[in-house]
Formats: sequence, structure tokens, C-alpha cells
Amino acid sequence: MKFKKFSLFILVLLVMLMPVSAFDWDTHEYVAEKTCEEFNCHYSELVRSCSVLPDKMKEVYGSEESDKHFCFSFYCPAKRATKVWLEKAKFENDEMKKWCYIGIASHYFADSRAPTHQSVFRVKVKCHGESETLVGEFVKNSTQSWNANMCGINFSDVDLHELIFDYKIIVKETVF
Ligand SMILES: [Zn+2]
Repeated sequence: MKFKKFSLFILVLLVMLMPVSAFDWDTHEYVAEKTCEEFNCHYSELVRSCSVLPDKMKEVYGSEESDKHFCFSFYCPAKRATKVWLEKAKFENDEMKKWCYIGIASHYFADSRAPTHQSVFRVKVKCHGESETLVGEFVKNSTQSWNANMCGINFSDVDLHELIFDYKIIVKETVF
């Protein structure tokens, strides 16, 4: 039992240290843009570029940052990061900054829903990046109905739109 717990700990650690990009940037930008549209925000381009900042922050802060892009049922730093940035947005008076923070938060929220970032056991490292790129391709090409098979876990257009729908609700409740 003790050994099992220890190996689980090591496994979680390994997954968290993996240099992954989570969702493709096209996907992150899409989620941010759709959120902006919902609230008639005037900063679509800004929100899109802020949505990929967390991945760029990895280069500066290393694992301190990349740890925040994961979500396991028992431990979800991505959800915590979402909350932190939405709280910042709530108390920000500058509209541009406010929307940038909402864009940043959308990144962590999307990562918290990425199947490849939720499961320790089912994710094979090799197909991780490839499957997330696949989602990005569908988004970029505005494919209507799609299903990306991610390492045996499915992620479809329905999942993505559910994710965006849920994020809009959280933004409404937390920021406005
Ligand atoms: Zn990420």
C-alpha cells in the first residue's frame, strides 16, 4: 500500500513535469474569442493573445508555471489559477486589462477540461501533443462536427462548446 501511494506520487510528479503545451493555441484563442463575443467586448485580438500568455509564462517560470496547467480530480491547480485571474479581472477598472485577465483565465479553465491533463494513468506521453494539435486543426479549419480521439479519450466539438458555455457562466458569476 505504501509503495503504491509512493509510485502514484512519482507518476503525478512525472506527468506534471512533462513539457506539454495543453490545448493547441488555436483552441485557446477560440475559447477566448467566443467568450469576448458573448459579452460584446471590444478587445477580441487582445483577449486572443492574452489567452496564450500562460504557455509563454512557462518559459520564464518553468515548472512553477507549468504545474498550473493540470487538473486531476483530487488536485486541480488549473481551476485554482482560473479563479485567481478572474478575481483579478473583477477588481480591475481598466477595461483592457480586465479583458486580458479574462483571456488568461480562459487558458487555465480550458486546460482544466483537457482530457489529456486530467488522467494520470490513461495518457500516453507520445500521443499527448498530437491529439491536442488535432483539436486545434479542427478549430482552425472551422470544422462543424468533429471528434478528436485523445489517447483513447474522446474530445469533440460538443465538449468544446460545453467548455465555452461553462466558462461564460463562470465569467458572468465571478467578474460581472
Ligand atoms: Zn496550458
